Amino acid sequence: MDNKKTTRILTDLKQSLLDDLERGASGSETVTLEQNKVGRISRMDALQQQAMHKASQNLIRKRLVLIDKALRSIQSGDYGYCESCGNEISASRLQVRPESLMCVSCQEQVENR
Ligand SMILES: [Zn+2]
Repeated sequence: MDNKKTTRILTDLKQSLLDDLERGASGSETVTLEQNKVGRISRMDALQQQAMHKASQNLIRKRLVLIDKALRSIQSGDYGYCESCGNEISASRLQVRPESLMCVSCQEQVENR
């Protein structure tokens, strides 16, 4: 495991997610402003948009928490090992989701719980 490379990947990912959060925050303001000005968006649409926006912001925040955990696990040498069963997490999984803290089967168990 190339710790330096992994740290950089995770740090870059973290930065781009933080950018997304910031952009998202200003994006929601734009929606509200346009709604007041034009009045084309119905209240329901606006509420739905807001809910979707909140959900995606929450997802980003969750990923950021995982990334911080992953960065700490690099320091402690636990990175790449499932925090639940201790098995190695597959390289292909880490490539797609470098912030993964669990192997696929443990993750599925958690999600289906
Ligand atoms: Zn596992």
